[in-house]
Amino acid sequence: MHPRPAGTAHPAAALHRTVEPTLVDVAVVGAGQAGLSAAYHLRRRGFEPDPGAAASLVTLDADDAPGGAWRHRWPSLKMATVNGIHELPGFAVPPADPATPARDVLPAYFAAYEERFDLRVRRPVRVAAVRRVDDDPRGRLRVQTDAGTWDARYVINATGTWRRPFWPVYPGAESFGGRQLHVHDYVSADEFAGRRVVVVGAGISAVQLLEEISHVADTFWTTRREITWEAAEFDTAARVAAIAGVEERVRRGLPPGSVISVTGQHWTPWARAAQRRGVLVRHPMFRAIEPGGVRMPDGAFEPADVILWATGFRADIGHLAPLGLRTAAGGIRVADGRSTDEPRLFLIGYGPSQSTVGANRAGRDAVRQIMAAREPAAAG
Ligand SMILES: Cc1cc2nc3c(=O)[nH]c(=O)nc-3n(C[C@H](O)[C@H](O)[C@H](O)COP(=O)(O)OP(=O)(O)OC[C@H]3O[C@@H](n4cnc5c(N)ncnc54)[C@H](O)[C@@H]3O)c2cc1C
Repeated sequence: MHPRPAGTAHPAAALHRTVEPTLVDVAVVGAGQAGLSAAYHLRRRGFEPDPGAAASLVTLDADDAPGGAWRHRWPSLKMATVNGIHELPGFAVPPADPATPARDVLPAYFAAYEERFDLRVRRPVRVAAVRRVDDDPRGRLRVQTDAGTWDARYVINATGTWRRPFWPVYPGAESFGGRQLHVHDYVSADEFAGRRVVVVGAGISAVQLLEEISHVADTFWTTRREITWEAAEFDTAARVAAIAGVEERVRRGLPPGSVISVTGQHWTPWARAAQRRGVLVRHPMFRAIEPGGVRMPDGAFEPADVILWATGFRADIGHLAPLGLRTAAGGIRVADGRSTDEPRLFLIGYGPSQSTVGANRAGRDAVRQIMAAREPAAAG
């Protein structure tokens, strides 16, 4: 064994040097629409973003700046083409030119919101793991991050879906000689000018980008299921029915499922525009990918330079794995935004609350439930 120079610690000592976790009542993980709504309601109920306070809260966010996933949406997603944005509680979205990209308007709004309600979001702080401190069911949950550890009585998880784009697996994908990208990485149709682009997926993004790209490129649209266009508008009744369907799934511990599988296919202005221009032509899903294109179920070959996967996103909850909540069906059992198997954990912006309006309400409801547990008599 080599002698250590005087005054230097054994390297293992660094591993054993423990930094005490900071104690807080509530840790909010993620500061998108859902997390900011929760932080706002906690502030209104007297929680302070200061660990020394009688009721304390910390809000942790992995991004460098405010805006949640809106910071990362593609530039051609304008205020006019978003699917309806519900304002955050207590502060209206300032009027914006419909032609302005959502990625500019909404992060500025979120920044002003955090400032106005003194939310003091800590960023960039990425939560790596949430685990139980001990076996006491009334004990704390440990939130481990790349910038410290917090032990909280409650964790409100609001980490969205943006960092988990879903790529289906098809044989031959690795052999493709062109470019494959997910809408997560889409920037502009101009990149595909003059190319042949296979657009995969049935959701709003697929149809919107199909329309956009078809102005400059030859497009070929494929979806797993036949599309049945709903004659009715996606009105309040349809929305309520769709949300109830997802609520039931997550209550049973199933993964929330894709948005389109519960909402059905409704006409939008860009779907109509694509239809008018003759590009809204759906084909069945290809069965394999080859170097120069895709092989269709009937054996036909469709050449392609680009495959754009508009196949949605999944809940970004890998950091919750140490809690062992995953069911055999692959989801987490959640009722009213709260984990059934770990009641100290709330999941908001998850499943039925995965929209701006749903996220708002889920933030409020999580805080109500926390208040009810803290002060049963004062709950309202
Ligand atoms: C392309 C697209 C368009 C959409 N358009 C609309 C629309 O027009 N209207 C609508 O109502 N809904 C829309 N949605 C749904 C939309 O995602 C939600 O409405 C809402 O913006 C999501 O808010 P959120 O707070 O749940 O998540 P996000 O906005 O994704 O915020 C999550 C935050 O958590 C942080 N985070 C993630 N992981 C960690 C971690 N481990 N540690 C710390 N922080 C973490 C992220 O940095 C991020 O800031 C759209 C979704 C997509 C994918």
